[in-house]
Amino acid sequence: ALEARAVRHGFGGQDVLHGVTLSVARGEVVAVTGPSGSGKSTLLHLLGGLDRPDHGEVLWGGTRADTLDSQGRARLRAASVGLVFQHHYLLQDLTVLDNLRVPGLLLRQDLTDAARTLLHAVGLQGREHAMPAQLSGGERQRVALARALVARPAILLADEPTGSLDSGNAVAVSDLMIALARQHGTGVLLVTHDEHMATRADRRLHLLDGHLSAH
Ligand code: ATP
Ligand code: MG
Repeated sequence: ALEARAVRHGFGGQDVLHGVTLSVARGEVVAVTGPSGSGKSTLLHLLGGLDRPDHGEVLWGGTRADTLDSQGRARLRAASVGLVFQHHYLLQDLTVLDNLRVPGLLLRQDLTDAARTLLHAVGLQGREHAMPAQLSGGERQRVALARALVARPAILLADEPTGSLDSGNAVAVSDLMIALARQHGTGVLLVTHDEHMATRADRRLHLLDGHLSAH
């Protein structure tokens, strides 16, 4: 579902990633660990097409993402890639349901049914007309997860998705994320410091000094 080939990237002439190659198959959950500053978030940004690598290739379902223009990349991303971060990035002025329908604007698809199904799957079926500010932290993160999956992407990229939650909520959200991904055949690349999450993955990778290796 997701591939990176010899991805190199840096800032201000300093390389952060020295040639990273990886692939994540459909339905596979891969955890990435590594010290702070090792380039995990940088890698996820490149894999998600939020930034372009200095060298190398990023492929979504076999299609080069790094050579598309930003509009083409945004459109393909909306259909193929879900993103979850430590912060939820929900739109504060929209209801829970409307937040989930936003990806449909870019796709020119009405995602209302898919949104309701996913809200049910994350246990928030009664909260579709709530505003994000009326939810708990764990609930907001579950909405963010539902939004990431609403267009049924082949790939889910998650950067410390439970990093802002207490341990009980972190376990609940991470278990939910992995269960939904397996159920939908979504390939997951998950950056985490959380041992519980990392041990639930099919495979673990470690990023150190710009090099990615099996853990
Ligand atoms: P953490 O575990 O703390 O989140 P990380 O592994 O996600 O760390 P990155 O955020 O990818 O690390 O940062 C890797 C390196 O790249 C750091 O030295 C950081 O300062 C640098 N860096 C990241 N983004 C930029 C940027 N936009 N401009 C300049 N330097 C950057
Ligand atoms: Mg980071």
